[in-house]
Amino acid sequence: MGLEEQLPNGILLANVEKLVNWTRKASMWPATFGLACCAIEMMTVGGSRYDIARFGMERFSATPRQADLMIVAGRVTNKMAPVLRQIYDQMPEPRWVLAMGVCASSGGMFNNYAVVQGVDHVVPVDMYLPGCPPRPEMLLDAILKLHAKIMDEPINAKRAQLKLESGERTPMIPSSERYAPKNWAQRRRAERQQAAQRRELGSDPSLGALDPAPKRPRELKAGR
Ligand code: SF4
Repeated sequence: MGLEEQLPNGILLANVEKLVNWTRKASMWPATFGLACCAIEMMTVGGSRYDIARFGMERFSATPRQADLMIVAGRVTNKMAPVLRQIYDQMPEPRWVLAMGVCASSGGMFNNYAVVQGVDHVVPVDMYLPGCPPRPEMLLDAILKLHAKIMDEPINAKRAQLKLESGERTPMIPSSERYAPKNWAQRRRAERQQAAQRRELGSDPSLGALDPAPKRPRELKAGR
């Protein structure tokens, strides 16, 4: 018999590591670091259509001392690299970096002496997001994957060692699967089967008959 069976409903049970990680991932404030075209997509997630506020992240911080997540959106030039590093150094721990777009991730098509060939030459990167530019949905997906990674972070060196020895790895499950209701696929299949049965029995006239197979262009031409 476990402790949870002795406690009344409403008592929250969790280990400290999970609780700390949950508070961290649920209140990440991004540092504004838009450098090129990708920044427009990054700004879009702040609007009502994509609504990054759902994740407690609506406050894009203009001061690095109040930010945890640096979204590097756009190409980083050699001239900008020391500025980027300085801003990163001013962010308090724990902090995370998301390289948004191919330019930030690897220099992209700007294979020249002026552009840093990947922001990981300047700061450690936690999440790479491909695309040119990545759509706002892709940025949200990368943020959700980063949340999953944060939830799995050990809170001290001993826990880190234990995790390393146990061989645990963060599963990178697509957000569409991770956040879908558990039995979504089965429910949809059952609904379709029930609708087909009702159609066959004619018990629900609102469903109508099944659409006939679409005509091929040759049949249309012949007036058949
Ligand atoms: S990845 Fe594409 S959209 Fe993003 S900064 Fe580079 S060129 Fe612009």
